Amino acid sequence: MHTTTPCKHHTDTAAVGRCTGCAEAFCADCLVEVHHRYYCAECKWLPVNTKVFHEEATEPSPEANLAFGLAIFGVVVSLLLAASGYIHYAAFLIPILTISTANHARQRMKEHPQYTGFGKMLAAMLLSIISLLVCGAIGLAVLQNPN
Ligand SMILES: [Zn+2]
Ligand SMILES: [Zn+2]
Repeated sequence: MHTTTPCKHHTDTAAVGRCTGCAEAFCADCLVEVHHRYYCAECKWLPVNTKVFHEEATEPSPEANLAFGLAIFGVVVSLLLAASGYIHYAAFLIPILTISTANHARQRMKEHPQYTGFGKMLAAMLLSIISLLVCGAIGLAVLQNPN
C-alpha cells in the first residue's frame, strides 16, 4: 500500500508539501504562499516580520552615539585650545578618531538598516571637520608666531 505523510494538523489528510519555516508536512489547506514559498500558519509571519525588521530602523546605533559624544568632546577641546592659543598634535587625534568612528557607524547602518542615528553620525562628521579646521588654524598661528 502507498503510504503518504499526513498533515501535521489534520492527521487524516495527506500532506502536499513542507513549510519553509519549520519543515513540517502540511496539507493544501494549511499551507500559505508568501513570496513564492510555502509556510504553515505559525511560520507565515516569518518572511513578513523579516521584511519589517529590515525596513524599520528602531535600534539606535551605538557607534553613532559614540561618534557624536567624541565629536562634542573634540569641539570642546579645540575651543579650549583656541582660547589658550596652545596647540598639541594630540588635539588632532580626537576629530580623526571621531571621523573614523562615524565612518564605521555609517558602514554598520548600511549593513543593518534597523540602526538609527544617521543624523548623529553626520553631525559628528561635520563637528570633527570644524574641530580639525580650528586646530589647524591654531597650529598655523602658533607656527607663524613661535613665542
Ligand atoms: Zn511552519
Ligand atoms: Zn492541514
